[in-house]
Amino acid sequence: MEIVKNDGPISAEEIASRLSISKAAIRPHLASLTLSGFLAARPRVGYYYVGKDRNALIADIFREIKVKDIKSVPVVIREESSVYDAIVTLFLEDVGTIYVVDDQAILQGVISRKDLLKVSMGNNDLSKMPVGVVMTRMPNIVTVEPEENVLEMASKIIEYEVDSLPVVRPLKDDALEVIGRVTKTNLTRLIVEIAGWG
Ligand code: ADP
Repeated sequence: MEIVKNDGPISAEEIASRLSISKAAIRPHLASLTLSGFLAARPRVGYYYVGKDRNALIADIFREIKVKDIKSVPVVIREESSVYDAIVTLFLEDVGTIYVVDDQAILQGVISRKDLLKVSMGNNDLSKMPVGVVMTRMPNIVTVEPEENVLEMASKIIEYEVDSLPVVRPLKDDALEVIGRVTKTNLTRLIVEIAGWG
């Protein structure tokens, strides 16, 4: 790419000879650089540098990285657990959202900080109140799958105005097994990591 950038347009033969490798060996590399939009080629002119628009490069990165690459371990409780226990779990596990699952790890609901604050403001005995009463319940839960990319995940977080998404594996009968969680923190961590690549 440096050669093309500095001396393009340039033929494949010339690039190969500068690198002291065969034309056949360089073909696949030129093809992939052309496909990914860094170089372009014209017959009888040769390869020349196009570069990529910066925003397109950033979008590529966020499309390449998958939810499974950045997900965290989910923090889960059972529907029968009390609101009091949910609050304790929130502090102990240092998370903002807890997922409610059955004994097969199938997603039943989501409880956020505000759900817990709201119920705590009423005159309730929190240790007697099950989380099932206050959680957001299936099927109204926005989820992601491990193979979805980070751009799709971030778009869901923005569109549905939530802090976290359960990472799920679909089973039969619309059941969703909880296998992880992704949050705004995972996205923030990713940005810091990508900035460090430079
Ligand atoms: P907070 O309560 O800290 O502002 P959220 O913005 O994530 O946290 O939650 C707002 C509301 O949306 C809560 O009632 C919560 O139960 C619900 N909620 C949280 N995550 C999801 C999700 N992934 N899908 C559907 N509802 C959600």
